[in-house]
Amino acid sequence: MLYEISEEQRIIIDTLRNFCEKMVKPVEEENDKEGRYPEDIVKEMAKLGFFGSAIPEKYGGNFVDYFTLALLSEEFARYSPSLATVMGASSLLFGNNLARNGTEKQKEKYLPIVATGEWMGCMGLTEPGAGSDAMSLSTTAKKVGDEYILNGTKTFISNAPVGDVALVYATLDKSLGPKGICTFIVESGFEGYSAGKKFDKMGLRSSPTGEIILEDCRVPKENLVGGEEGLGAKHMISGLDTERVGWGAMSLGLAQSAFDEALKYSLEREQFGGPIFNFQMVQKMIADMATEIEAARLLIYNAAAILDKGGNARLAASYAKLFSCDMCMRVAVDAVQIHGSYGYIKEFRVERMMRDAKIFSIGAGTSEVQRMIICHYLRK
Ligand SMILES: Cc1cc2nc3c(=O)[nH]c(=O)nc-3n(C[C@H](O)[C@H](O)[C@H](O)COP(=O)(O)OP(=O)(O)OC[C@H]3O[C@@H](n4cnc5c(N)ncnc54)[C@H](O)[C@@H]3O)c2cc1C
Repeated sequence: MLYEISEEQRIIIDTLRNFCEKMVKPVEEENDKEGRYPEDIVKEMAKLGFFGSAIPEKYGGNFVDYFTLALLSEEFARYSPSLATVMGASSLLFGNNLARNGTEKQKEKYLPIVATGEWMGCMGLTEPGAGSDAMSLSTTAKKVGDEYILNGTKTFISNAPVGDVALVYATLDKSLGPKGICTFIVESGFEGYSAGKKFDKMGLRSSPTGEIILEDCRVPKENLVGGEEGLGAKHMISGLDTERVGWGAMSLGLAQSAFDEALKYSLEREQFGGPIFNFQMVQKMIADMATEIEAARLLIYNAAAILDKGGNARLAASYAKLFSCDMCMRVAVDAVQIHGSYGYIKEFRVERMMRDAKIFSIGAGTSEVQRMIICHYLRK
């Protein structure tokens, strides 16, 4: 085996699993149906320290390493990719990025309150006119005295409807390209900040996704991440590496869960006088699902290990995200196929899983974008 799970990691996973069995699984179907953000469950997640999972101990969190975070994200997504996204957007996209790139003062001020779940964090990169082409963002930041004035709209932002603080990417001057991009810590209470509409989504329905609208939003200069202008593109790219490993791990967890349901069902459901598992065409689906899940697991753990060693994980993260996220959709579709019409009915978990699965090949850079990154490296 290429990886080993330590006793400490086993305890973290078991804690999460017990919590999910008790609090998440029983209400999963209802929350999905209603598109409900379950505040009571989120409060429990905070008590158990899950919002500190990507934030170093020094700043009130309990981050061990990216491998442990991948294990945690994978396990969480087996139960609820929605709640894993709530955790990831706050702890990883906001917290981990700030922990790596913020000044000491910024980290001391914001990380402990996010690590405890007292404040919910989010990360605003995507704009209505800048998705895959993220560097072309047009939210502006203008220095006026001791403040920056931000104007623009961020869209599809996980946790925005419930966010207390956001990492926001904005440009000082679009003609400077990536060199003009800066990252700001923007509190939802700052003048000129408003959470726009909340989206009604196909999947991840318990994870609130919405807009951040900045209209002459006044941000103190102390909230320029890293304390220096022009570092935003660097923060963004390194943040995407970690996000892709986290997102990949979640798609792996969801795929594993869909597979578990499909295997169980194939052994129970009888047609033509025996379990459908006995049919070779069903076995092909089962065997392919299991093999692809195992392959994705190795790619993700490898990318996490590179991050943990401080290496350049860009290519490894793209391989892992591309394969695992596309695999997740294939596995979810086959899990529904194995369930026949029952898989199409909401009472069966695989129905929700197939809807949840689609986002993984879109968010954090689409599968097409991952292929572009991979080819960029292969050409060199
Ligand atoms: C549930 C959810 C949560 C999200 N959370 C966040 C978040 O927390 N923070 C955040 O900043 N963003 C978030 N996003 C946004 C997400 O990352 C973007 O939507 C995604 O990167 C794609 O951008 P787009 O939707 O504008 O698609 P587009 O960039 O318009 O792409 C449309 C299609 O064209 C393809 N395409 C584009 N360019 C190329 C190219 N050069 N070559 C080939 N194909 C191409 C794409 O692959 C895609 O298939 C979230 C989105 C969702 C749905």
